[in-house]
Amino acid sequence: MFEQCVIFTDLDGTLLNHYDYSWEPACKALAEAKRHDIPVVINTSKTRAEVNTLLTRLSLNKQPFVVENGSAIIFPDISSELLGKIQNQPQYQLIDDQHVWVFGESRASLCNWLINIKNEDGYLLESYQDWSTETIISKTGLTESQALESQKKEFSEPFQWFDTGEKLSEFILKAQSQGYSVLKGGRFFHLQGVVTKACALDFFSTHKDVLFPSADILKLIALGDNQNDVDMLNRADLAICIKSPVNEFPNVSNSQVTYSHQFGPQGWNEEVLNLIKRLEIYYPNN
Ligand SMILES: [Mg+2]
Repeated sequence: MFEQCVIFTDLDGTLLNHYDYSWEPACKALAEAKRHDIPVVINTSKTRAEVNTLLTRLSLNKQPFVVENGSAIIFPDISSELLGKIQNQPQYQLIDDQHVWVFGESRASLCNWLINIKNEDGYLLESYQDWSTETIISKTGLTESQALESQKKEFSEPFQWFDTGEKLSEFILKAQSQGYSVLKGGRFFHLQGVVTKACALDFFSTHKDVLFPSADILKLIALGDNQNDVDMLNRADLAICIKSPVNEFPNVSNSQVTYSHQFGPQGWNEEVLNLIKRLEIYYPNN
């Protein structure tokens, strides 16, 4: 019986340190995952441009990754079998020579709706399209090149809310009636399609036979540190909640859940090494 594990991981505050975005403390576990042929699938609110840059540094170049809170999966290296299955579907797009499966909405339609609703209802909010690169740097602590990449949103629009809680509830209902959703992330709210980070896990389950033809069982593992990871954590066969310096553990209902003792990438390293150690005991032939 061959069990194929796949690790889905949030970035900010999970694989990357919340303050300085470092991942080096997780290097050992990343290398161990690679040694055991366990794909590490980044599942983040970041953009395709941002993740493309990170992939090389993390040595995850050929791995699929999920951007903008579950809005799309990108396949840098796709098998002809999977391509044959998905390329005639409406969700498939070829963007900059990358194979993309889109669950969400285009950013252009989200931004147009946001402009209209601000004009009509006078809500006090600012979003990425209102901000200069310098403003984004001051709000996020990103470097200039990172901030420029973060501005290349394709499927979502992050925003800050400066109005009342009551008006926020009203705004969210209006977004929902438009077929959009609003998600609270670590730093910003995100206006996006009706997607969550769990969409990619469903995709992997649906296409298991094409993605992992020799696997009898697919075991989906998810790591996250915040509420926007909850759907992914609940959907996984094993949820790993990573301790955050700025928020409580996400509120997970999955009975198969563990909580890291350390923050961010240190916690990631500790938990993934423990997981691999357990797999070596239970599946010595994998
Ligand atoms: Mg996070």
